[in-house]
Amino acid sequence: MFALLRDLRTLRRTVDLPAPGRGRSLAIRHVDAGSCNGCEHELTLTSSPYCDLARFGIGVVASPRHADVLLVTGAVTARMREPLLTAYAAMPEPRRVVALGDCALGCDMLGTPYDLVGPVDSLLPVDLRIPGCPPTPDEIAAALVEFLDAKPSRVSGGQPAA
Ligand code: SF4
Repeated sequence: MFALLRDLRTLRRTVDLPAPGRGRSLAIRHVDAGSCNGCEHELTLTSSPYCDLARFGIGVVASPRHADVLLVTGAVTARMREPLLTAYAAMPEPRRVVALGDCALGCDMLGTPYDLVGPVDSLLPVDLRIPGCPPTPDEIAAALVEFLDAKPSRVSGGQPAA
């Protein structure tokens, strides 16, 4: 058991994240608006012991009514347009939107089929953009932790947008 905890501590040092314990939190409602599930896979790994975003107060919640952030993956399909807007409308202010992955950013990773509405920012104001196909768990974790710390109006990949 102690060997396992020691190994985990060593492993976490390889993740370039700041120390936790800021007394703040970020409740995330995730919506898959039409992805291939690659981004979801990497997002799930940010909750594993490797990144363990829960130690920063960052976690996924089941209801948009309890969420600070709407995190969207995938290019928005026609069928997911209304559910996405409904989830956003149900969130309390101040509410933020994160677009995760190149599809959500409008990079045409899946082409331009007739039933795609387009990138997330064609429907909602995007506050944080995390590029990649898919972005790695480290990149996702670093961007979300920086977002939690800064809470700026618009950032891109963890950096303030130009
Ligand atoms: S960005 Fe890549 S991994 Fe993510 S949903 Fe699109 S195709 Fe899949």
